This record gives sequence, structure tokens and C-alpha cells, in this order.
Amino acid sequence: MFIISLFKQRRIQSVFIFGNKMRKTITILGSTGSIGRSALRVVNSMIDEYEVLGLSCFSNIDIMRQQIVEFSPKFVAVESESICLSEDFLKLKKDFPNVKFLEGKLASEELASIEVDVCVSAIVGSAGLKPSLAALKSAKRIALANKETLVMAGEFFLNEAKKNNCEIIPVDSEHNAVFMLLNNIERKHLSKIILTASGGSLRDCPVDELGLATSQIVGDHPTWDMGPKITVDSATLVNKGLEVIEAHYLFDIDYNDIEVLIHHESIIHSLIETIDGSVYAHMSVADMALPILNALNFPNRVCNNFGRLKLKEIGSLTFSELDDHRYPAFTFCIEAGKIGGIAPAVLNAANEIAVESFLKGKILFTQIVKVIEYVIHKTSFVKNCNIEDIFNADKEARIMALNFIGSIST
Ligand code: NAD
Ligand code: MG
Repeated sequence: MFIISLFKQRRIQSVFIFGNKMRKTITILGSTGSIGRSALRVVNSMIDEYEVLGLSCFSNIDIMRQQIVEFSPKFVAVESESICLSEDFLKLKKDFPNVKFLEGKLASEELASIEVDVCVSAIVGSAGLKPSLAALKSAKRIALANKETLVMAGEFFLNEAKKNNCEIIPVDSEHNAVFMLLNNIERKHLSKIILTASGGSLRDCPVDELGLATSQIVGDHPTWDMGPKITVDSATLVNKGLEVIEAHYLFDIDYNDIEVLIHHESIIHSLIETIDGSVYAHMSVADMALPILNALNFPNRVCNNFGRLKLKEIGSLTFSELDDHRYPAFTFCIEAGKIGGIAPAVLNAANEIAVESFLKGKILFTQIVKVIEYVIHKTSFVKNCNIEDIFNADKEARIMALNFIGSIST
């Protein structure tokens, strides 16, 4: 294998040749997380096609060590400044002298600025936005799992993607499903998108007992194995609210033409309806490796061992309407989406702070929506905004949320 790399003011171009075959280069932002690890499973299954050029994480250097051993990346970004000062990190650097380590606050952005064929954007939360923006300029394609990028700055991000000729392929299972379905449909024939929702870990909990749910109970999702933040968001249904906003931007569709259905089995990942009343569903086993595989290889379809549906064993599929009493936060997401401008970023920031506080035991599960409601209703919204306004709104919403939590937590 030959590696040719050119270092140009922190922008690097690399070409990898495997045997006599050129491999595509890939970076994975947030490689130690749930999506990051699934992305590496996919890459591992196609190792003669993809070369891992770089990996990034916040602080989990034990998992990163294993990933370095397995995938020999040229670049590794570690964002946590305290971890970068630790003995364990110094040892990691010493053990892998051929790896170029990027350290501290801007490490993921620096990694995202390296030229590659594909960048998987899989950092959780608003921390993923700046690296996603950096990747627009250096990746031919972004496999986008970080939904907060679209929620906070959908219009700006997609416009910049166009300007930079960067393809955006959604990884979120619902959006990947819609993306694959729309591939065969003329846009003018689309009348509706139907996003499915499992209902989360508290879907069967009596509504008046939701306040008693601990982070451990909420963390036990019935159908998907995901990171802690999105698992809480699934229980409040904020995740689906964020996904409606994500769909609005990705598919340029009116909020009134996006429907959400509770579908407990997580077999149908989403549906589209066309103007003649036909409905097309996308089904597969619930494994994020499949949307990631599609996002890496589109328009090719690739044989894989990630599991097959056994419909005879599944027997029946169920659908039901959302219960507003169980999921009050969902309504605020749609309200913020319809306001537009900075509103989705404000909602997202309030939710991130609230979820973090819930996971730390500072507030009850049912207080997450109270934080969102307080911050949304306390913010003045302007319709036209630029990316700086969005970052400022994010900061202000966090301060507001923290102050409110200070006033209600025991
Ligand atoms: P996770 O918590 O399992 O992993 C998050 C990753 O981001 C880790 O590698 C972590 O080190 C890194 N990270 C966290 N904070 C960071 C920071 N400040 N700077 C740099 N890196 C940081 O999360 P996840 O469940 O894999 O979700 C990742 C993204 O994908 C989220 O936006 C989520 O909404 C989306 N998503 C996840 C799933 C899923 O099945 N897990 C499905 C659809 C969409
Ligand atoms: Mg999803």
C-alpha cells in the first residue's frame, strides 16, 4: 500500500492504493459513539473499498485506542482538553508515533478539513455543527448523522453544500429511507412524507408516572441501541420533532406535509405518499449499519451481512397516532420549526441542556419539556438570520436554560 499525502496549511490531500486498487478515503467524526462504531463496522465489511484516514472523539481514548489498532488511521482528533493533558493520552501518542494527533477544542473541525471522499458526521448535538460545516469544503460527500446540523442551520448548510459541490446523504434511518424512496419518484409527484417513531422507552408508562422515570429506565430503548442523548430524545419524542425539521430542510417539504406515526416495531423506517394516493414504505432490520452503508455507497447498493427481515416471524405491523399528553415536547419542536430562523437552534440548545441535566439527575424527566417551553417562550425571534446569529442564539438559549434549571432543581 502506498500513501501519498500533501500537507497544505492544515489541509491534506491523500490518495490510497490498496493492492492495485484505489480506495476511497473516509473520516469519521464521533467514531467512538454509537453511529461512529456502526460506521466502522460498515467500513470493516468493505475494507478493500475504503481507507480510514481519520477518526475523532471527545474523550473516550480507550475505544479510540482499539480503533487505531484496527483501522490504522493517519489522523486522530481528541477534543477534550483535560483528556489531552492526561497520562493516558500521552501514552496513546507514544504508542502510535505514526498517527498525527489533533488536540483540543478545534480538533474535530481540523479533522473535518482534511480532503476526503466521504466524511461521516456523527458527533452528538450542536458540537457537530462546526465540524459538519468544515467538512463541506473538503469532503466530496457527507454521510450526515448529526441531525442538529440541519436543525440549527438547515438552510445555510444546504446552500453551502451546493456552493461547495458537496453531496449530503442522510444517515438518520427515517431520512435515509425517504431519500432512497425518493430516488425513484419525481419530486412533483410527492404529496407527503410519513416519519415513523418507535415511541421510545416510556411508550407504555402511564402518563402520570412519567415524572418518576430515572435515566436508567429512559436509557433502555425498546428497538434501537443508541447514544444516551438521542435515547432520551426518543422518550420525549424531541428526536422525532428534530427529525421533522430535518426532513423539512432535506426534502424541501412543507411542515403540513410531514406526518408522524407511532410504529412500535421499527421495521418501517419511513413512508412517502404520492399524489395518486400510493404509499411506499422502506423496511429493513433495525440496524444503523444499513443506512450508513447506503449513505457511503449511493447510488450503488451493496450486498451485506447486516441481517434480513423475516416478515413471517414479525407477523403484523402496527401504527398509531401521537398522544400529545404523553409527548408534549413534540409540539414545541414543530412550533420552532414553523417559526424558522433561530428558533430551531434555540429549541435544540434548551433541549440539550435539559437532557444533560436530566441525565445528571438534576431535573425530572417531565421537567425537560418545561425547560424547552420556558426558553422558547422567553426568546424573541427574528425571521432573517445568519450563521453568527444562530451561534449567538444557541449560546443565549443555553444560559437561559441553565438559569431556569437552577431555579427549579432541588
Ligand atoms: P453517541 O453519544 O453515542 O456518540 C457521540 C460521539 O460524538 C462520540 O464519539 C463522542 O466522543 C463525540 N462527541 C461528543 N461530544 C463531542 C464534542 N463536544 N466534540 C467532539 N466530539 C464529541 O451519539 P450517537 O447516538 O452516535 O449519535 C450521534 C449523532 O447521530 C446524533 O446527532 C444523533 O442524533 C444521530 N443519530 C444517531 C442514531 C443512533 O442510532 N445512535 C440514529 C440516527 C441519528
Ligand atoms: Mg432517526
